[in-house]
Amino acid sequence: MNAVIFTRTSWNKIIRELARDSSRIILFPAGLNQVQKNLELIARGENRILNNIHRLPENMVCLWSFQESDQSMLPENFFNNRLPETILKDYRGYIAGIGIGSESAIGYMAGYLRCPDGEVKPLSSIYINGPELIEISFRQETPSIIQDSELWSRTIGALGGEDTWSRITRIPFCIVGAGRSGSMMAKSLVKLGVKKLWLTDFDTIEKHNLDSMEMVVKKDLGRKKVDVLKDYLDLLPAHPSINVVPESIMSFKALRAVKESRIITCTVDNDAARIGAVFLSAIYSKIFLDVGTGVFIDNSEQRQMGSSVRLILPGQGCLLCMGGISDMDRAREIILGKGDTREVNRDWRLERSGSVASLNQIGVNLGIRLLEDLAAGRVSSSTFLQVEYNNNGIPSINSRTFDENNSRCPLCRLSGKGDEALGMLQEVLF
Ligand SMILES: [Zn+2]
Repeated sequence: MNAVIFTRTSWNKIIRELARDSSRIILFPAGLNQVQKNLELIARGENRILNNIHRLPENMVCLWSFQESDQSMLPENFFNNRLPETILKDYRGYIAGIGIGSESAIGYMAGYLRCPDGEVKPLSSIYINGPELIEISFRQETPSIIQDSELWSRTIGALGGEDTWSRITRIPFCIVGAGRSGSMMAKSLVKLGVKKLWLTDFDTIEKHNLDSMEMVVKKDLGRKKVDVLKDYLDLLPAHPSINVVPESIMSFKALRAVKESRIITCTVDNDAARIGAVFLSAIYSKIFLDVGTGVFIDNSEQRQMGSSVRLILPGQGCLLCMGGISDMDRAREIILGKGDTREVNRDWRLERSGSVASLNQIGVNLGIRLLEDLAAGRVSSSTFLQVEYNNNGIPSINSRTFDENNSRCPLCRLSGKGDEALGMLQEVLF
């Protein structure tokens, strides 16, 4: 399977520019996300016009328009008729080419991948990682029929129709952190109808998890959290396909889980793991949802309760420039191996005054609502929600939105760079 990833902002610009001048060839540098035989090209940064470029990027995505009569859309002619021979002769990277129909061919598209050895393969899909979670498929598929539609009828109705529901439930999710909030997130997503889920967490069930983690009972003590959750989720009527990674987010297995998912949810209680998840999501241009909750005792012995929820869309900021990470110094030390590595599995009671499940529920449910509204197209920007309870127990909610990457942010600069950026975490930390 070969796919191309765009941000919604880039895609809108492409359509506008091709409508203005149908003779131009638009080009993006591309990051790669390769998993075995599957390859995604991630269109990065600002688009350019082919004729104005002196030095070509290592891998690229090119787009042009075509008319109905155009024979050059056949695979054997696809690249040769559009890109200058001088480019094709010497080019040693991947080129994804996408033809968009205009005039009498409006509504038609064609897409191919040219490999470094010159072989041309079909593209399977284009993903636009933004509002409405759009996927354009080039495969000839029979329309999917919803199994057991009565089961989902109330959810489908509430979300505004089958289209919206299908868009969010067909997407593969990766849940990073399978504790309190993570177990709630997993259960809610499967109950929503999500069909493919990765669960990553290396932790085991301890006594203090029994009070409020979802789907856990006494006999699970000592078992891996992800295994326990999978056993329970397998029993739910959605019959989801669940893969577990009982390892840290820094492991190769977790890397694969992130690479194969389209939405990453982060429900960890330590910032080293959070940075790992944020970093991978940014370089592979994934939609990222972070949920943090806590009860803290402040200097005046007051109990501060709150929840923060950040939904990040590719090309519209990252977690570092949207509120950042609370304890960057300690996270840095752990990642660089200077801190106590058990920190990533530390006892949460040492620094926080615990947590209550009601707060976790609030954070997780606000996050899932953002995702539902993203699928429906009502949410179109990266969004930061902060819920805080005052001393009288009354909640308030603040929100901010972000529409573009921050050119001074070290992680935004690596956005969509793909496999090539895997070794660059340290550049982000310093
Ligand atoms: Zn950033």
